[in-house]
Amino acid sequence: MKTTIFQAPVCELKSLNNLFIEMTAKNCNQRCKHCYIEFPLTKKVKDFISQDTVKKALNDTSSEPLQCIYLTGAEPMTHPDFNSILRLCLKRTNVCICTNATFINEKKARFLKRVEDESQYELIFKLSIDHYDEMKNDDIRGRGSYRQVLHAVKYLSKYDFNPILSITNYYNESPDILKANFISILDKIGFKADERNISINEWYNPSVHSDDTLPSFEWESLDCEYGRILSEKGIYSCPFLVNDHRGRCGSSFADYSGRISLETPYCNTCLKNKRQVFSINFSVFNS
Ligand code: SF4
Repeated sequence: MKTTIFQAPVCELKSLNNLFIEMTAKNCNQRCKHCYIEFPLTKKVKDFISQDTVKKALNDTSSEPLQCIYLTGAEPMTHPDFNSILRLCLKRTNVCICTNATFINEKKARFLKRVEDESQYELIFKLSIDHYDEMKNDDIRGRGSYRQVLHAVKYLSKYDFNPILSITNYYNESPDILKANFISILDKIGFKADERNISINEWYNPSVHSDDTLPSFEWESLDCEYGRILSEKGIYSCPFLVNDHRGRCGSSFADYSGRISLETPYCNTCLKNKRQVFSINFSVFNS
């Protein structure tokens, strides 16, 4: 009998450029069909990261070459101390807010501009929206979510922010068609976007296992090669595996692991995308 030994590839952290902070594990006002978070039935969970945990992480990573801190969740803007943590992080480096945009109105956009102006670093927005057709988008993300994102883009661009749309390609459409349609819609609301404002990730249903979805072990770059995520429970390899024992790298940035085995269905999603799913490719903005 032929014996096959399966070894998952191991990924090494090359440089800690991206620090993801899970502001809350379970608080979100939306329930998107493709979300990887397992939500409790109640919406009233108080699982917010403490300011002390964030301060310690910033202290422990003071000699690391951080390029961007990503405030993530569930929905990061539900955190009661969101503004204080944002200011703390902006003292250190650029900050990207990864949000469903429901908390951004004109007043908030104006306020966030003031916060950015206090810092020498940039405040960036990744807004989640999945389809240029309102009905199709709202079928995934919930009624009203499409308009909310477009309103947020309008207000953010009014205050000179340059938001990025973060699209999960749930309907498996041509990326070129997605990009062209989104750019045209943004143009109609007065925001001159280009391809760099449209970030598309292919979606693979992790609960579907079939031979034709097996990935190749060749990739350009992975989030776990250039970043780690901090949660109230410790340090993990990436947002997909936050608070999951398979992604655990340590209890603090004072002592954490730079190695991770790529053995989960989420890793297949990354390997099929072949590049970082969560972090921004800054090189395209500098070119
Ligand atoms: S899910 Fe992706 S980023 Fe996370 S450990 Fe696996 S390959 Fe790396």
